[in-house]
Amino acid sequence: MSQEFLPFTRPSIDEATIAELGNVLRSGWITSGPKVQAFESALSEHCGGRPVRAFNSGTATLEVALRLAGVGAGDTVITTPLTWVATANVILEVGATPILVDVDPHTRNIDLSQVEAAIRPTTKAIIPVDLAGLPVDRDRLYAIADRHGLRVIEDAAQSLGASWQGKPIGSAFGVGRGFVSFSFHANKNLTTSEGGALVLPADIDTGLCERLRLQGVRRFPDGGMDVDVLGGKFNLTDIAATIGLGQLPHLATFTARRRELAGAYLAALRDVPGLGLPPADFSQSNWHMFQPLLPPGTDRGRFIAGMKAQGIGVGVHYPALHLFSLYRALGFKEGDFPCAEDIGRRTVTLPLFPAMRDGDVARVCTALTVTLPEST
Ligand SMILES: *Cc1c(COP(=O)(O)O)cnc(C)c1O
Repeated sequence: MSQEFLPFTRPSIDEATIAELGNVLRSGWITSGPKVQAFESALSEHCGGRPVRAFNSGTATLEVALRLAGVGAGDTVITTPLTWVATANVILEVGATPILVDVDPHTRNIDLSQVEAAIRPTTKAIIPVDLAGLPVDRDRLYAIADRHGLRVIEDAAQSLGASWQGKPIGSAFGVGRGFVSFSFHANKNLTTSEGGALVLPADIDTGLCERLRLQGVRRFPDGGMDVDVLGGKFNLTDIAATIGLGQLPHLATFTARRRELAGAYLAALRDVPGLGLPPADFSQSNWHMFQPLLPPGTDRGRFIAGMKAQGIGVGVHYPALHLFSLYRALGFKEGDFPCAEDIGRRTVTLPLFPAMRDGDVARVCTALTVTLPEST
């Protein structure tokens, strides 16, 4: 008998959360309400008391952060080509132009040593991404931002639960000029099915953030209202917030389990010839994904099909985004960012989620060692 299919990720939602969802559905109030407020308070506590507002996606939080930072037409924003395309799409969405900077081949995150040379007079902000949950160096990042008077919008979609120098991502860095954007998409380390949250810098008006989140509406105690800014439709529901509230108490154990599984992968795959392993960071990364780089010359499509035939789900996160048609049409081309291109062509995401069993890691590694030689 063949074994059960092992997906590359799967959320862990406990029975208490499922029961509470029933209560919310029966309550008569299922859009934004008390659950969203409670979720925002709990997230704020995780983030050292900083102001946090919940959104219906990580993409929406990034877009609103850009608007709050005053980024618009004629401005440029620096980011990485190796990320989910949302990170760059939001720059276009607000009418600005993305400037891409290649990644460091070791961390696979934006190469901070190349950022200053990319800054132009039009540059307003940097959007660093903690790919796979491995944090970008916050000290160097904010030193650059301070030197050039730039806003930082940390795309921490993948790094909730990770930390830098012992402090949680979202808490202690760039409190004066930094936004932190989280995503709670179903595949992220903490999920609300779909959702996001924005941690605000100290000088940003939380009321304006709320108006940009919902049609620009300002309500008055006498029941009247006004609209003085163009806002979107980005509010989270109490249904989604209930899932998030049920996840938060488990975040630390989820992260610990992910680190354990990643350690088992690294030990098991150490001697596979040509395989590029991710940095062995067990104190800071939250191991959102475990991503080896296939040996150069491997046919990734064949590899993924071979793993699937053995009941194992493998993902690709992500091809370098400047090679997508939309970005090529803006003038980007092959060869612009060689490190991101190489990683984007070779990367695969192996199964890693808190409910995985120890034996699953062994099963994946056995399948990998069988499949690799057949995939050239
Ligand atoms: C998931 C993700 C986003 C977008 O989040 P959504 O909630 O799907 O909108 C943005 N950036 C990165 C790096 C992500 O992984």
